[in-house]
Amino acid sequence: MRGAAVVVDDGVREVDLLIEAGRVSALGDVPRAREELDATGLTVFPGIVDAHVHLNEPGRTEWEGFAAGTAGAAAGGTTTVCDMPLNSLPPTLDRTSFEAKRTALESGAVVDVALWGGATSAEATLEELRDAGALGVKVFMSDSGAPEFPRLEDDGLRAILARAGSLGLLVAVHAEDEATLRQAHGARPPDAEIHAVRRLLGFAAAAKARVHVVHASNADVVDEVVAARHAGVDATVETCPHYLVFDDAEVARHGALLKCAPPIRDDAARERLWERVLRGDVDLIASDHSPSTRELKSGDIRSAWGGVTGVQTLLPAMLTEAVYARGLPLPALARLLSHGPARRLGLAPQKGAIAVGADADLVLIDLEREWTFESSMLHARSGLSPYVGRRFRGAIRRTLLRGATPRRGRLIRPVART
Ligand SMILES: [Zn+2]
Repeated sequence: MRGAAVVVDDGVREVDLLIEAGRVSALGDVPRAREELDATGLTVFPGIVDAHVHLNEPGRTEWEGFAAGTAGAAAGGTTTVCDMPLNSLPPTLDRTSFEAKRTALESGAVVDVALWGGATSAEATLEELRDAGALGVKVFMSDSGAPEFPRLEDDGLRAILARAGSLGLLVAVHAEDEATLRQAHGARPPDAEIHAVRRLLGFAAAAKARVHVVHASNADVVDEVVAARHAGVDATVETCPHYLVFDDAEVARHGALLKCAPPIRDDAARERLWERVLRGDVDLIASDHSPSTRELKSGDIRSAWGGVTGVQTLLPAMLTEAVYARGLPLPALARLLSHGPARRLGLAPQKGAIAVGADADLVLIDLEREWTFESSMLHARSGLSPYVGRRFRGAIRRTLLRGATPRRGRLIRPVART
């Protein structure tokens, strides 16, 4: 590949790329290849590693599924999705359900897929999930909304953190405090997140566990994680595009399309969260793509399904809002979307960066091009997305998975940790 500006770890460089057997084999002055790709005028970004999606297969394929979800991923420049253990039936709680996911993704996914396991009791099969190749285990401190995926009480959470800590297994936590939510009678105040994350980080410190706080909706959660990290806790935090792009006024306008948990906050909270992203406090940005059927997503917001459709728009939304609107350098965005998640989830050095030896997972972008996201472009099965009609700057010209147009995804396992 010749002529492109390539986003590497420490900058953007005009270098040529040689791809052999699906991997980057040289960067810089490369010899003539059998097939030459002229990418003059384009910027090449490492394929996005979306650390948090719900593709709901097997079991709730009418909500999304590997085929539709990964088609959207590929169209949006995402070459690896990390599928959450819940909303599929069965949830990914042991080797049998892990293998059911593997079978489903190997026949349906067009991009690579890594799988989170889940822990819903102190007796969860952590060793089995680790040996099967799970990225880690997801737990809930509040009601998950899926009856087959119960939350952990504090005793169970502490037990899981201790066991996972001794296995070196990452624990991803939905941190909202159930008692605070109940007192708030259907509202989901920021306090519910703060109370939960403080308790979690205290438990994690005691257990010497590796924890990852998913979908922080506000800056105070990020600040708690950063403070704990300074105190020596192995903790990271993610946020999602919908908390950065939208505010509560837009939730009022879009209704159920933007219902999620924790909820989208007000404009002031959004700007404080942006400050944390821009100064490097947030470890990664993931879509938390969680569609459902059109029926479950329409009508009264109180009874609608909570989850935002976003796997396809992660990179365009962040190019527009982070790079153009707020001046985030491209390598910093690559750290948030590709390298950061790959490293934290154990998928580096195979995934997450453009480097010799890594998979040639690449996104070719026309950075200056402005365009509108139309519903006809959307791959989600529901046909619904809050991003429809939005203007983006930065158009994805082509996505390459292991050097070729994405057609057949594989299960990717994290590298073993000791
Ligand atoms: Zn989620």
